[in-house]
Amino acid sequence: MNISLIDLTKQYELIKEELHDSIEEVLKSGQFILGPNVKALEEEIAQYTGNKYGIGVANGTDALVLTLDALGIGPGDEVITSPFTFFASAECISRVGARPVFVDIDPLTYCMDVNQIEEKISERTKAIIPVHIFGQMVDMDPLLEIAKKYGLKVIEDACQAIGATYKGRPAGSIGDAGCFSFFPTKNLGGYGDGGMVVTSDDELNARIRLLRVHGSPKKYYHECLGYNSRLDEIQAAILRVKFKYLEKWNEARREKAALYTQAFKDLPLKTPYEAPYGRHVYHLYVLATSKRDELLSYLKQKGIGCGVYYPLPLHLQPAYKGLGYRRGDFPVAEELCEQALALPLYPELEKEEQQYIIQAVREFFERG
Ligand SMILES: *Cc1c(COP(=O)(O)O)cnc(C)c1O
Repeated sequence: MNISLIDLTKQYELIKEELHDSIEEVLKSGQFILGPNVKALEEEIAQYTGNKYGIGVANGTDALVLTLDALGIGPGDEVITSPFTFFASAECISRVGARPVFVDIDPLTYCMDVNQIEEKISERTKAIIPVHIFGQMVDMDPLLEIAKKYGLKVIEDACQAIGATYKGRPAGSIGDAGCFSFFPTKNLGGYGDGGMVVTSDDELNARIRLLRVHGSPKKYYHECLGYNSRLDEIQAAILRVKFKYLEKWNEARREKAALYTQAFKDLPLKTPYEAPYGRHVYHLYVLATSKRDELLSYLKQKGIGCGVYYPLPLHLQPAYKGLGYRRGDFPVAEELCEQALALPLYPELEKEEQQYIIQAVREFFERG
């Protein structure tokens, strides 16, 4: 068998006709920038995530950058986030001229350890970016309490967590704003780049809308410097087709994740922990084992594609040498980077494929 870590072609085959129709409609309409599909998707995602507004932007990174910019965060400011995430969670902070300050992660959820936030707060701290990693939300209540106490903004990096919940509240509905990515492999992915900010804050909504079109409220009049960062009409049309299936797909991810976890119960490895406070939507199914590299090559040899998320924590990235962090600063994140291994998990993964993967993982540990 040959099973890749992520296979987007199966999903495409399943909804091909609908997708082609939606794309054709856009092509025929001649409207490609900020047309009716972007507007409709913004409303759909806003409603789904419990927000007043959605603002379609070019990608998830820009969703974070524009939000920070709109909040007036810049040089001299500090923003607290996790070192165990995709680079963009911190890059956005540096991009607006502010400084990322990391806190280690919780060894169970792999999200930022909210108990370590307070000690990192200085008079320069302006915001916190909790990252809902792999599809599971950060423990938001204690985080919000700290944010309130110190007057900090909260921007949820929900790029991996569309559809996840925390105590019944959707990802993206809890902070001042939530940021989503529609990168093709995300739980709701387009056929190219795309992103969205959701918020219920009138002022923030207006500001981000302005920023995404060159600071221009009216054609050829510019109130401020902005960006060119818009969600494509074609991508929005595609995403609206796929959005109808999101709940079903997230449920399928959860079922397949539960099957893995059950099948690996007695093995000497760590399966993903599901915090009782929420709904995990398994953007990735990530195991942890001290035999990670051996397991990876064993599975590869069996035709199973695996992935390492993430091989290097952000505080040790060459790009962040200047921040002055060292190995040992965030031991939980560092250890996980050596042990984490993602197995194939997507809604269309077939039963026989998953059984084959389970069998291979069991074999690896049983043969010793
Ligand atoms: C994917 C991702 C992003 C960036 O999204 P893009 O659309 O690729 O720019 C940011 N943060 C996290 C946690 C992500 O997984």
